[in-house]
Amino acid sequence: MNSASCMAETTPVRVIFFGGLGEIGRNCAAIEVEGRLIIVDVGIMFPEADMPGVDLVLPDFTYLRENADRVDGIVLTHGHEDHVGGLSYLLRDLAAPIYGSALAIGIASHRVREAGLSDQARFVEVADGETVTIGPCEVEFIAVTHSVPSAHAIAFHTPQGVIVHSGDFKIDLQPVDGRRTNLARFGEIANTTGIRLLLADSTNAEELGFTASETDVGAVLRVIFLARTDKRIICACFASHLHRIQQIVDAAVLSGRKVATLGRSMQNNVELARRLGILTVPDGTLIDITTIDSYDPSQICVVSTGSQGEPLAALSLMASGQSRFIELSDRDAVVISAHPIPGNEWGVGRVIDQLHRHGCEVIHSGNHAVHVSGHARRGELSILQSVTKPEYFVPVHGEYRHLFHHRELAQSMGVAKENSLLALDGDIVVLDEKGIRIEGHVPAGYLYVDGADGDVDHGILRDRQVLATEGLVMVVVTVDLEARDLVAEPEIITRGWKAESAERMLASEGVDTVAAAVRSALKDPATDIDALTKVARRALGRFVGTKMRRKAMIVPVIVGV
Ligand SMILES: [Zn+2]
Ligand SMILES: [Zn+2]
Repeated sequence: MNSASCMAETTPVRVIFFGGLGEIGRNCAAIEVEGRLIIVDVGIMFPEADMPGVDLVLPDFTYLRENADRVDGIVLTHGHEDHVGGLSYLLRDLAAPIYGSALAIGIASHRVREAGLSDQARFVEVADGETVTIGPCEVEFIAVTHSVPSAHAIAFHTPQGVIVHSGDFKIDLQPVDGRRTNLARFGEIANTTGIRLLLADSTNAEELGFTASETDVGAVLRVIFLARTDKRIICACFASHLHRIQQIVDAAVLSGRKVATLGRSMQNNVELARRLGILTVPDGTLIDITTIDSYDPSQICVVSTGSQGEPLAALSLMASGQSRFIELSDRDAVVISAHPIPGNEWGVGRVIDQLHRHGCEVIHSGNHAVHVSGHARRGELSILQSVTKPEYFVPVHGEYRHLFHHRELAQSMGVAKENSLLALDGDIVVLDEKGIRIEGHVPAGYLYVDGADGDVDHGILRDRQVLATEGLVMVVVTVDLEARDLVAEPEIITRGWKAESAERMLASEGVDTVAAAVRSALKDPATDIDALTKVARRALGRFVGTKMRRKAMIVPVIVGV
């Protein structure tokens, strides 16, 4: 019996989700075919308000680290941080060839180089429509439109049929570069081998209708630029949104302006995209940011980072008067050509307010149509279902509510109820002759990275949250370990507490409680400093918790003399 072909017919295929199912960000999955693993995207998530001091959040790589010898390749769908930003962390633990478009690789490899991991990484550029063999699997890159050029859906040709991962996508019929979502190829696969399992982007699964074309934004920008003949224009957008940058450059050229980039990632990406032929800037148009003051404001357009209100990005620095290059005035029109991603609304709102204080005109997605989403709405998601006709469906890339509504949409489009699964981070989805089901889990918690401290765990975060919301109570107890007694009454210090009555209560009853507990513990001759520290923490913690109904961080300090 030919065991290889027998295995090929019967081995189940597994899809393992490490992130992105239950939150927007840190997208990472693996497809397991005949025991070999192909990783799809390695993204990061930006921290939320309840993660003080955290710079970014990674997927839990435990499973991938433990199975590093089974990984045959890493496939990148596109160059966004929530898909490639975690590569430089994963590559510390495993080495495998990394496949993606020239742009996705250009953006990802920059970070990997910065992290000093170039030796670990072998990048393989793939073209639209190309199929590469990764381990036992044929992997096909299908063009899709999104808010970064050269994005791909991926078709995995497996023994259990074709699995299509949509990547992040929209169906833009008039894209800036004319490169459309290749619906024809999806239809061809559907009508020949059929699509066994579809995994698709759920970000806009609650939004009715269709996402507008990127070129609609270009038309709005041209009108804005042409109408402001006496003003300098500062335009902020995502540094990876090169089609937006192209349209800003086009509007600038049309209105007789030079263009200067501001922000490191903006400068890097513009250089990269020009080299790859993705961005076209006429000769003589780009000028250095340090020379803009030698032009009349009406001749200048600055393309800047910071459209999400990030405190250290160029736009925020300008707004707070800390920019080395730009001083704002009423001769500036600032265009924020983006929409705040959830969690950033407050930061963007503050920047908009500061810009008004400088007398700037502020144009943003709330008052002009200067932004469109990169993700498919319900109309486009329905088209994808209609063209791909999947037997099984798992929604990906979204918060729980997005996944929920996307699954309902798929069911309304004909996917049988039992054939659509709502999987979450850590789930192992098994696909075999019998169908699809969740079978087992892998670790998939948040991994927090603090730029200053490196990895931080839940305990540290909990400490920071308590400090931020409840403050700190410290007690200093000086003991004579020979005489087995206190040298003086304990001293209590608080931080982040206001009420004088609370301070008074701590200074009298609180001190007495701690003193009594420590004295009692000292009666046991075996009690050392460590044990006394525990006694003092427990006594003060209980007092603060039960008597004062607060949860402050308790810091006991025992000084032995
Ligand atoms: Zn994306
Ligand atoms: Zn994404």
